[in-house]
Amino acid sequence: MIYLDHAASTVLAAEAWTAMEPVLRTVYANPSSMHRLGRQARNELTRARESLARNLGSSTRDLYFTSGATEANNWAIRAAAAIGARQGKRHMLTTSIEHPSVLAVFKDLSAEGFEVTYLDPDSSGLIDVGRLQASLREDSCFFSCHYVNNEIGSIQPVEGMGRICRDKGVLFHTDAVQAIAHTRIDWRSFPADFLTISGHKFGGPKGVGALLTRSERGTAIELAPLILGGRQERGRRAGTENLPGIVGMAAALEAVYTRSQDRIDQYRHLADVFLNGLEQHGIEYRLHAPKQDRIASHLPSILNLYFPGCEGQTLLLLLDRQGVAVSLGSACEAGSSEASHVLLALGCGDEEAASSVRISMGPMTSEDEIETTVAIFSKSVQMISRK
Ligand code: PMP
Repeated sequence: MIYLDHAASTVLAAEAWTAMEPVLRTVYANPSSMHRLGRQARNELTRARESLARNLGSSTRDLYFTSGATEANNWAIRAAAAIGARQGKRHMLTTSIEHPSVLAVFKDLSAEGFEVTYLDPDSSGLIDVGRLQASLREDSCFFSCHYVNNEIGSIQPVEGMGRICRDKGVLFHTDAVQAIAHTRIDWRSFPADFLTISGHKFGGPKGVGALLTRSERGTAIELAPLILGGRQERGRRAGTENLPGIVGMAAALEAVYTRSQDRIDQYRHLADVFLNGLEQHGIEYRLHAPKQDRIASHLPSILNLYFPGCEGQTLLLLLDRQGVAVSLGSACEAGSSEASHVLLALGCGDEEAASSVRISMGPMTSEDEIETTVAIFSKSVQMISRK
């Protein structure tokens, strides 16, 4: 199978497995237990926390482990809403192209009396910093914007957004799930108050993630727990820690950050091979991506393509039968018959949204695979469009 769905979940890194295997096998005690085996588990947890914090440039006390990005996103937004409400500020902002784990929380908060402004992207998927600035109000308490869009790969100007929010005293959260494998985050200088990561998007296992907060700006101190119960994670996130998952996630990030950064150049090259290949086969397509400043504002490992007259679901199934795995957009919305909210927000019509597929590359994607994929894609698109 040629796997081109790495944005949904990527392959477990060898380093993650090597780190996890002995933990799964021998470190079975509860990290909260007081006996020697418990302390051994606690030491593993501490080591993993220190490794992640070192790689992200954060302090260990600003890093909280979660069950993944969905929980971290829910938590950051809920915590910021609680801080805002205490200050009498009930206006929040996000974008219309967030992941469902962000949008669903804002929907609930609207029902609870918060006013939410949704910033729309331009037709290439970018959120305008000027529009953010113009939308901030005296009673705004919080803005949440993803770093890299999971459906189309647009890279948002999060640093500019963060600086504006800081100037206005507005808390800023970024869901960096799709960015972390490609961009080094240095939390010391990064202008955000909360940041979300998820293990399975950068070579770690599924079901584990983290939320970064900021003690010096009070977000760690005021962080209201989302999951109640035991005293884990300094009393802020109850539940026995997923130790093998956490150890695997830490090893995966270490591996991502020590490998050379030229992987992004390789993705850019593979994207060119793919798109040029389609053109050589005479396939009509449109790439949903920023046209200007492509290098700075589009992650080349995510290609979302519209094939006129070619129903996306039919194409996906035909490709699947021929051994190529792609997706229609977010895996979290798979199974829903609704068109992608991201593509609709870019201004695509229903036909265009329904005739688009996403390919997303990962560390193992080879040029040979891309060339084979071009041939299979071209044949399949022609077959479906002719019908
Ligand atoms: N945010 C983004 C941008 C994502 O792509 C995903 C995964 N599709 C999530 C959040 C949810 O991550 P998790 O699977 O760790 O809950």
